[in-house]
Amino acid sequence: MPVAQSSGVLSFEDARRVVEEHASSLSPRETESVDLLSSSARVLAEPVLADRDLPPFPRSTRDGYAVRSQDVTRTPATLEVIGEIKAGETPDKIPARISPGQAVSIMTGAPVPDGADAVVMVEYTSQKGSEVEIARPVSAGENVVPRAAEARSGSVLVEKGERLTDAAIALAASAGRATLPVYKRPRIAVLTTGDEIVPIDATPGPTQIRNSNSYSLSVQIRQTGGDPVLLGIALDEPRQLRSMIEQGLKADLLLMTGGVSMGRYDLVEQVLAELKAEFFFTGAKIQPGRPVVFGRCGESDKARTYFFGLPGNPVSTMVTFELFARPMLEALAGMSPRKLRFVYARLKSEIKVKTGLKRFLPAILSGEFEDSQVELVPWQGSGDVAATARANCYIVIPPEQEIFAAGEFVPILLR
Ligand code: AMP
Ligand code: MG
Repeated sequence: MPVAQSSGVLSFEDARRVVEEHASSLSPRETESVDLLSSSARVLAEPVLADRDLPPFPRSTRDGYAVRSQDVTRTPATLEVIGEIKAGETPDKIPARISPGQAVSIMTGAPVPDGADAVVMVEYTSQKGSEVEIARPVSAGENVVPRAAEARSGSVLVEKGERLTDAAIALAASAGRATLPVYKRPRIAVLTTGDEIVPIDATPGPTQIRNSNSYSLSVQIRQTGGDPVLLGIALDEPRQLRSMIEQGLKADLLLMTGGVSMGRYDLVEQVLAELKAEFFFTGAKIQPGRPVVFGRCGESDKARTYFFGLPGNPVSTMVTFELFARPMLEALAGMSPRKLRFVYARLKSEIKVKTGLKRFLPAILSGEFEDSQVELVPWQGSGDVAATARANCYIVIPPEQEIFAAGEFVPILLR
């Protein structure tokens, strides 16, 4: 598949498409086998197949009476009860067939016998001795799930490349799988840059800042299915920066934070250019995160490693990971590609912004039941992690609109 050759500053959508295209070109990874429970949030490496029909028999979804629907088109109708079937009933206790005028008492999860095509809920019946009076008609198929209606034996229950959720793991369990093949976690190098950045166990001087980005990124990497490899902090000095970048390029993906803005000491792009990196974009028209850089570096085709230069402001780092690094990491983790989708929520109070950038602003989605509303968290800009920590979503503001009235529906990206 041809990969778009773009560079410079792109719109958000174009930048995202460039990343998606490169992500789709990544090849599958090594696999390992893990216990069913440990497979939670991992990515499935081979499809899980149904080892039998689901359900394996026509299953009653109610407690009641299995009947021939044509016997109860006119109600009340009286039928002869010829037996009782509970869930898990041994086959020899199940009547071979229900004949006209007959019914069988049946429980939820029990097999509906031949001849019967519907189940009347027990609430609409009254049994006296061996006769039951049916008060309401049922249509054919009501309260019965036909054999194999959910899945046929041998069909795919969970696709390869899916992240294993509760429902996927339930399906694997129902197919008797105690272990699952999953992709190995990709190793993601994290390199922080900045003369002012100090490790969290150091006492910062008056103008120094503790390294928080390596930690937020590590959490995002773990949540996406990668293994973070922390390379530490590079000074804003080309030689050390270069050797640390070279080290980072040995991983499956390199994430750098800081040093990609326009300042005199923002050296990341310069050093990457010296290393003959290809740049796919060197900025996106977004806020926070405008200076984000995406590219690839390495001597041979095989040894080429993708990298992101994420802006150092902590919220920019988090947001640009979500928007751009995540799809690459997901692909390295073996996940099938998926599109970024926003959901809509009603705005609680008016928003005014300047036009020109697509904005992802920290916000709180609150309210109850169908009455949810979203509002911006007051913040001091893209360095304000404290505000972002209070947020549970980002409001997505398109670049061309200035005012959003209270009550309007706006797109949001959940955190
Ligand atoms: P930069 O992108 O290098 O211009 O940095 C932008 C802002 O983010 C500056 O205020 C930096 O001090 C801050 N910053 C950069 N890296 C980190 C980090 N690892 N942890 C916390 N803040 C950072
Ligand atoms: Mg810096």
